[in-house]
Amino acid sequence: MPTTLDTSIEYLKGVGTVKAGMLQKELGIFTFGDLLNAYPYRYVDKTKFHKINELSEESGEVQLKGILRKIDVLGEGGKRRLIGRFRDETGVIELVWFRGIYWLEQNLKVGAPYVVFGRVNAFNNFLNIPHPELEEVNEGNQQAELTFAPVYSSTDKLNTKGLDAKGRRRLMEALFEKISPADLPENLPDYMLQKLKLPARYQALRWIHFPKNQQELDAATRRLKFEELFFLQLRLLQSKHRRKAGTRGYVFSKVGDLFHQFYKEKLPFELTGAQKRVIKGIRTDLGAGVQMNRLVQGDVGSGKTVVALLCMLIALDNGFQTCLMAPTEILAQQHFAGISELVGDLGVRVEFLSGSVKGKKRKAILEALEAGDIHILIGTHALIEDWVVFKNLGLAITDEQHRFGVAQRASLWKKSKPLPPHVLVMTATPIPRTLAMTLYGDLDVSAIDELPPGRKPITTVHRTENHRLRVFGFMKEEIAKGRQIYVVYPLIEESEKLDLKNLMEGYEALSREFPPPQYQISIVHGKMKPADKDFEMQRFVKGETQIMIATTVIEVGVNVPNASVMVIENTDRFGLSQLHQLRGRVGRGAEQSYCILMTDFKLSADARERIQTMVRTNDGFEIAEADLRLRGPGNIEGTQQSGLLNLHIADLGRDGKILQTARSLAQRILDKDPELQHPLNVPMREHLAKERGRTRDWGRIS
Ligand code: ADP
Ligand code: MG
Repeated sequence: MPTTLDTSIEYLKGVGTVKAGMLQKELGIFTFGDLLNAYPYRYVDKTKFHKINELSEESGEVQLKGILRKIDVLGEGGKRRLIGRFRDETGVIELVWFRGIYWLEQNLKVGAPYVVFGRVNAFNNFLNIPHPELEEVNEGNQQAELTFAPVYSSTDKLNTKGLDAKGRRRLMEALFEKISPADLPENLPDYMLQKLKLPARYQALRWIHFPKNQQELDAATRRLKFEELFFLQLRLLQSKHRRKAGTRGYVFSKVGDLFHQFYKEKLPFELTGAQKRVIKGIRTDLGAGVQMNRLVQGDVGSGKTVVALLCMLIALDNGFQTCLMAPTEILAQQHFAGISELVGDLGVRVEFLSGSVKGKKRKAILEALEAGDIHILIGTHALIEDWVVFKNLGLAITDEQHRFGVAQRASLWKKSKPLPPHVLVMTATPIPRTLAMTLYGDLDVSAIDELPPGRKPITTVHRTENHRLRVFGFMKEEIAKGRQIYVVYPLIEESEKLDLKNLMEGYEALSREFPPPQYQISIVHGKMKPADKDFEMQRFVKGETQIMIATTVIEVGVNVPNASVMVIENTDRFGLSQLHQLRGRVGRGAEQSYCILMTDFKLSADARERIQTMVRTNDGFEIAEADLRLRGPGNIEGTQQSGLLNLHIADLGRDGKILQTARSLAQRILDKDPELQHPLNVPMREHLAKERGRTRDWGRIS
């Protein structure tokens, strides 16, 4: 049923066909509702008068009342300017104009009282106000109007058609004469508004357009952000709930011999509390008869591999096969070697499959897999190819999932009949928790938020080119202690040639500084053949080389516990989460480890903050928060597809707290009333239905 808000904008007082056409074309405003939702992008605060002696560089926009004492025209040519000296009872400030000087000279009244509005600017340690608005105080405005005025985005075209800032404000006034609280029914229950101290919906929308002061604006903003995030979460959680109810999964009813035997006899260490908690959660999932789709998030080194292995053993105990897919050949190999060694003589058959496994070997593996003789298959993307057929795949695990697309994840589902396998994805990408929960709307999320004991925090330092020799000296000391070192160069496609050249130059410099036979250096980069890469990698893994110089191919998952130093070249070109991943390659053994961030002397403010963050903390989640703040959610993997970027007023970089509150409330409500049938929840359901009709984009989330 159409409502007032669906009325075409054409019918609003003062609009008409021509202006309506422009509003549609320039701003995408078609209806009353669209206009209502086009919030001001800033506000001009004229609610008070400032005193000149209280002004500072940080004052921003201020309003003053005083007397124009004197005007002078100074300078020549481009520097010609009009200076007005303006004083109130506390001091004097200069007003400056570079344009319209002639007109101003003719019209400004020296000695007259004025109200001045403008932005305070610091110039050579003096404060001034360039190009202020100026209005003479007279009978009419003696009480000079005190307002908190909205400013709407406009375009040149709109400006010329009377839809400038003032025109837009008039439209909003006309709109609010047309709509009443009945057109904007409350969509959140009273108890929630009271608990969170949020204004009602109509009130908030009025205040966002016409706040009387900062407090009203803040309250309106909080309410509208909360509302947006709450309904987003409600929608995500509801669709997850529905899917779960719909997808049956294999029941792994028991935790059996293999699991227990491994746990008692083979596990080389005590699990951390976090590892135990996560495994317990997964065990519950696996026994529930519903297909598991779970993301395990754990910082680098938190011990995800052993968690994966224990889950795989549960699958085996229940008579199913299982697979582990990794994004690179090197990483898959490493998992294969590590897991084969861990399971030892348990009688579990583990095999490796990738594009590089060919001929007879491949044929034999595929046959054994289909016959059910292989229990654990470890490999690369090759695992999802059509020609890989399992007898009964019960659990599919992918490591470092951010490297795989959603489609690839989905293709694992088809590897098993009649039911899809349980799916576990493991990632070290530090994504702020709340964001992860939202991004992976279709996944349950567990976090391994504790590192194994005894890890020494990695010492991170920032060094510039002039420290180069000292860095070399330090590397030599560490090598003398028997340790190994990574030296990493950035490599991005756009500047691939130059990056490779940098890498090769770096390699030559290192070779001069660390000559054979005393020193051996491995080199790995993306242009090498996989076999060569692997050879160089293996030399380093075996300790035959002391230095490994590489582009970011080592970023993902490599485990060489003896490596204690990570030197990162051109650090400023790496993103925060990448730096954190790289740093995670060291600090895996018992030794004190170091991360050295090399840059030029000159750095952008952003790069400096990234580096300072790295130096300050080892905590992946803290780094993720900083990354989100610095780069915004648009750069975090997965956000593009999620619809999160279409948020209207909330900002994921800043509104993490609100998001968290919104999510837990939405969860609590759905736990009790998944279809929102309780009278208290009906307004929410109706709002969701209405929104679904309005916005197409949400459909893509689920
Ligand atoms: P990631 O989470 O980065 O994949 P790994 O699974 O590679 O971490 O584990 C890193 C290292 O920590 C490995 O050498 C592993 O054997 C070890 N490890 C894992 N869990 C524990 C634990 N509970 N106690 C001690 N060491 C552990
Ligand atoms: Mg790992």
